[in-house]
Amino acid sequence: MSFLKSARKADTPVPTPAQTSTQPSAPLARVADLKARYGVDLDATPEAARIRRLTCFDALTGLPNRLLLREQLDLVLRMAQRQGHGVAVMLVDIDNFRRLKQSLGHQRTDALIRLLAQRLQSGLRGSDLISHASQLGAVDHHGALARLGGNEFAVVLSHLADPQDAERVARRLREAASRAADLDGVEVYPTLSVGIALSATDGNTPELLLEHADLALGRAMDQGRDRTQFYNAAMDAAASTRIDIETGLRNAISQGQLALAFQPRVDGRTGQSCANEALLRWRHPTKGLLAPEAFIEVAEQSQLIVPIGRWVLLQACRQARAWQDAGIAPTTVGVNVSALQVCRPDFVSSVARALELSRLAPQWLELEVTESALWQDAGHALRALTAVKALGVRLAIDDFGTGFSSLSYLRDFPFDVLKIDRSFVKTLPQDQRTANITQGIIDISRRLGMEVVAEGVETEGQRLALLSYGCYQMQGFLFSRPADAAALGQVWGETAR
Ligand code: C2E
Ligand code: MG
Ligand code: MG
Repeated sequence: MSFLKSARKADTPVPTPAQTSTQPSAPLARVADLKARYGVDLDATPEAARIRRLTCFDALTGLPNRLLLREQLDLVLRMAQRQGHGVAVMLVDIDNFRRLKQSLGHQRTDALIRLLAQRLQSGLRGSDLISHASQLGAVDHHGALARLGGNEFAVVLSHLADPQDAERVARRLREAASRAADLDGVEVYPTLSVGIALSATDGNTPELLLEHADLALGRAMDQGRDRTQFYNAAMDAAASTRIDIETGLRNAISQGQLALAFQPRVDGRTGQSCANEALLRWRHPTKGLLAPEAFIEVAEQSQLIVPIGRWVLLQACRQARAWQDAGIAPTTVGVNVSALQVCRPDFVSSVARALELSRLAPQWLELEVTESALWQDAGHALRALTAVKALGVRLAIDDFGTGFSSLSYLRDFPFDVLKIDRSFVKTLPQDQRTANITQGIIDISRRLGMEVVAEGVETEGQRLALLSYGCYQMQGFLFSRPADAAALGQVWGETAR
């Protein structure tokens, strides 16, 4: 997804601090209005007013901050309860903020935040629903928007007659925000994710509503961003499961609960092993042996994947070296690395360190990355992977064919191996369209001088079809399920010495 367009003549001037009605100096000029507009009871002395202003308003946008929002929400909820109205709390995040920030730099990012604050505010003013909020007296529609920090805003809708009105407002805000924004010659198309919690069903305290709107926001982001999500009770259960997993995972390394399974990659013509992929397993104290599906997402979200990934890398290299030391013919060991690992500044040195500690020669290590590792910050990923490759390590692109599968990655990145995602292999050979695409991918890989591997080969029909397309390396249950190192070592000890 390209959200950055080339520089263009500015048609939407970026408000400078002096021009913006929502920047810090604006509220300074309206001190006298604060009580009426925001219900803030300012002390008479200018110094007390200044302190109150500093603690209650966001310096960049001049909007109420989290503290003031919390106070106002409390007030709105009490009034709503008395008058029998509904209240909606929306949390609004600027999508891909980290990436935007990296591309734009600090000044343009600040300008973007100010611009979005203005757009949200005018989006709210244009809303029929919000104008009703002014009936509250102390809290008019200007108080409905707050900035909670970073890329997060909050909107409080009072006098809510129908939950669908909240959706309508969210849509309006997202539309208002996503117009082209010209930031000093750089054009961006910001998108927003919105999480909504309703007082009628989701809680009647500021804490609960904010917490539930946050869970809904998290879900909107998980589902691909640029969308609105209402809170529902199932999210609570999912959140507590996630917390359980995260807590358990924190201790998993130190308590020796992590393990690696290895799945051979074979020559589909002979069945001979040419590589082994290391696959993470968690021996959970109560749930038994868990596959990555049960915990990898939490590991990513909590960043625990970084120390876990480091552990996997070292263990896999050590195992590969141990097999070699045991006299088993050397084969490549494949290690999955997550986008977060690739993004780290110490990624290259951690790979070098694993090779050094394990005494494994670099040509026997193959790092598998998925496209998500590439698009999150393509420039950095290219530098990091090129540096890793310079160590002598091989690189594979994993799960190819899913996600965006941009061909430019194949052009620009120095991959040695392309692994065709098992969703393609699954419907072979019956599905002609899939067969054609698979053949196309195999052809491209070979033209680019890459080895090609088919993942998830389960049937003899799939094996024969792939061989007929010229894809010889395969991995899948037809040949072997992932197994622990001891079991595999025993098989090779008998057959491959
Ligand atoms: P992947 O890298 O594409 O690994 C292949 C997955 O396909 C493995 O699932 C493997 O057990 C499964 N598989 C292999 N052959 C077949 C088959 O014939 N049929 C079917 N239905 N499945 C097959 P697993 O071990 O559950 O791992 C799932 C994913 O978790 C991996 O997909 C990889 O993306 C991720 N993963 C595993 N270990 C690690 C790790 O150490 N670090 C990171 N970051 N991700 C890991
Ligand atoms: Mg893999
Ligand atoms: Mg894969």
